[in-house]
Amino acid sequence: MSRVAYVNGQYVPHNRATVHVEDRGFQFADGVYEVWSVFDGRMADFDGHMTRLHRSLSELRIDIPMSRESLTQVLKETIRRNRVRNGIVYLQVTRGTARRDHPFPPEGTPPSVVVTSKSINPMKSDATAANGVAVVTTPDIRWGRCDIKTVGLLANVLAKQHARDRGAYECWMVDDMGLVTEGSSTNAWIIDEHGKLRTRDTQANILKGCTRTTLLDILKEEGIELEERGFTVEEAQRAKEAFFTAAGAFVMPAVSIDGVKIGNGKPGPVATRLRELYIERGTRDAV
Ligand code: PLP
Repeated sequence: MSRVAYVNGQYVPHNRATVHVEDRGFQFADGVYEVWSVFDGRMADFDGHMTRLHRSLSELRIDIPMSRESLTQVLKETIRRNRVRNGIVYLQVTRGTARRDHPFPPEGTPPSVVVTSKSINPMKSDATAANGVAVVTTPDIRWGRCDIKTVGLLANVLAKQHARDRGAYECWMVDDMGLVTEGSSTNAWIIDEHGKLRTRDTQANILKGCTRTTLLDILKEEGIELEERGFTVEEAQRAKEAFFTAAGAFVMPAVSIDGVKIGNGKPGPVATRLRELYIERGTRDAV
């Protein structure tokens, strides 16, 4: 079945879906994005991603391209047309197309909107989680507004490739204080050597992950205490468990960090349980 993309008001064959060469997303990475997990044809953490999208647009003073209802409709229709049961739906909004010049384009320039959706085999993702994955680390070289989900992802791309080049799945980035900020496309968590669940606080220069936020709710319900406090790579290497979260990855156990085995080198019980709970909740609350 051929894929379909939504581009500026039209559903077009994916292999012919294009934006203009002077789109500001292409020229300046002047745009934002969101990714929803799709469970059984419906979107998980729907409101969280939608709210973050509006915040990202507002922080960058990009016009909201359409009503929330219309956008929801487009997201659902793109999922439907691509017959995605399990996978992701991707939305990108840029400051639109205008003659290349750094300042914002003339008022009224319509933002560009692109939506794509693709299937991900849930069995494959579960098999990966059952074995756990390797993580490596690298200095965090990103700009100061990582709370905004912009398409300016070059440092993240380099970090992810750093992982791939070393046979690892994800790369955790480390700031000037020696603390892990987050993964190249995920939030980072450990259960430290004292048994405390820890993840970086959102006052730090990280993205407030929607999966992270939902997991915070689950932890409250389960009575699991969380410390939102940074940790060093050495602390992570001494941890009982390590894992990372994101739409698409859900909760993914890490079994080594920079070649050092975490715990017994197998996914830990807490990460495994939190993954189950997250998927259960995602499926239940998806819209
Ligand atoms: N951190 C970064 C840098 C990301 O790119 C992402 C997701 O793309 C996340 C964290 C996780 O966010 P979410 O759980 O909303 O997918």
